[in-house]
Amino acid sequence: MKALILSAEWKPREGYALSESERQTHKVVSGNMVWQHPTLKVEEVDKPKPRPDQVLIRIKACGVCGSDIHFYERDAEDYILYPGLTKFPTILGHEFSGVVEEVGSEVKDLVPGDMVTAEEMIWCGYCTPCRNGFPNHCKNLEEIGFTIPGAFAEYIAIGAKYCWKINELKTLFGNEDKAYEVGAITEPTCVTYNGIFECAGGFRPGAYVVVFGAGPIGLAGVGLAKAGGAGKIISFETSPQRRELARIIGADYVYDPRDVTPGDVIMDLTNGEGADLMVEAAGAPQLTVPEMEKCLAVNSKIVQIGRAAHRVSVYLENLQVRRARIHGAQGHSGHGTFPNVIRLVASGRMDLSPMITARYDLDHVVDAIAQSGARQHGKIMVKMG
Ligand SMILES: [Zn+2]
Ligand SMILES: [Zn+2]
Repeated sequence: MKALILSAEWKPREGYALSESERQTHKVVSGNMVWQHPTLKVEEVDKPKPRPDQVLIRIKACGVCGSDIHFYERDAEDYILYPGLTKFPTILGHEFSGVVEEVGSEVKDLVPGDMVTAEEMIWCGYCTPCRNGFPNHCKNLEEIGFTIPGAFAEYIAIGAKYCWKINELKTLFGNEDKAYEVGAITEPTCVTYNGIFECAGGFRPGAYVVVFGAGPIGLAGVGLAKAGGAGKIISFETSPQRRELARIIGADYVYDPRDVTPGDVIMDLTNGEGADLMVEAAGAPQLTVPEMEKCLAVNSKIVQIGRAAHRVSVYLENLQVRRARIHGAQGHSGHGTFPNVIRLVASGRMDLSPMITARYDLDHVVDAIAQSGARQHGKIMVKMG
C-alpha cells in the first residue's frame, strides 16, 4: 500500500541528555532535540495485518494537523520543529476516518463495513494515570502518526478499543464522503472538548466565552461554545480567512488581535463583567494570557490547549481577586469525549464542516502539509481514493 513515511537521522543535540529508555528504544520525548534532516515521501509499504484485538481500517480521509507542519518545517540546523514524543521512521497522519475491512478474533463490537474514527493516543490501560482514569497522561503512550504507523496511508491496523463508530454521520449527511470528512475532524474537536468540558469543567449556558486562535482547535472551540449555549462568543485570529470561518461556525464577534487590545474589547463586549471562560488555542500564551488577565470575570476560567514553549508571567493577585483559575489540558481520550462529540455532530447541533477548506489525494499529501504551513486554511483534508 501507499503511505507517507517520515524518515530522519538520529542525531541528539549536544547537551540533550537522553534517558536510558530513549537511548534503547529511539522513542524520544522531545523530538526536536534529536531528529535531523527529515524527509517526507510517499512510498510503497506492506499492508498491515490486524492482531487479535485490532481492526484493519481502509482509510478514507485524514486531516493535516499543526504537528504535521512541524515535521515538514525545520529549524536552521535542519532539525524537526515538533517538540513532542516521536519515533522514526514511521507513517504520519492521525486525524482520520475509514471503514472497517477486517476484525481480529477478539474484537466484539465492530464488524466489517462499520464507519469509524479513532483516538490517536494509544494509552496502555495499565499505568497509574490510566488506571486512575487519566488516559491522556499515560506513561506508556504510543501515538499513531508519531511513534507508530499513522493514517496518511491506504490502511491502518489499530486496537478496536480506540475506535468509535461514525455510522450515524452518514444518516445525517446522506452521503458517505462527507461523513468520512467530518468524521476525520473528530479527533481535533475532541482535544478542544477535553480542554473546555473535562479539564476546565465547562461553562454555564449563557456564559461569555472567548477563544484565542481560530485554527482547527480554536474553530472547534467556537463550535462547542455555540453548541453548549454560550451567551456571547468572541474570537481573536490574525488570518482573515480563519476569522471568516470563526464567524461562519458561530462566533458573534471576531477581531484581528493586532488591530485591537483584546482585553479592552472583551471588557466592552461583556459590559465590564469580563469573560467567564477563555480558551487559549493560539499557541501564543505570552501574548494572549496577559490580555486574558485584564478581563477575568469573577469565577472565570482560562484553559490552555495550544502548545507553546514559552514561560508566561501572571500576576496571581488578579486570579485571587477574581476567583479565577488556569487549567492545563492535553489529549482527547477518556471521559466520554469521543462519543459525546460524535453525538453532537450527528444530532446536527454542531456543524464544523465549513472548517474543511481544501482537499488533496494521498499522492499529494506533502503538498497538503506544505499548504497547511501557510496557516490560512481551516482544515486541509487528504482523501484516499
Ligand atoms: Zn493533531
Ligand atoms: Zn497508561
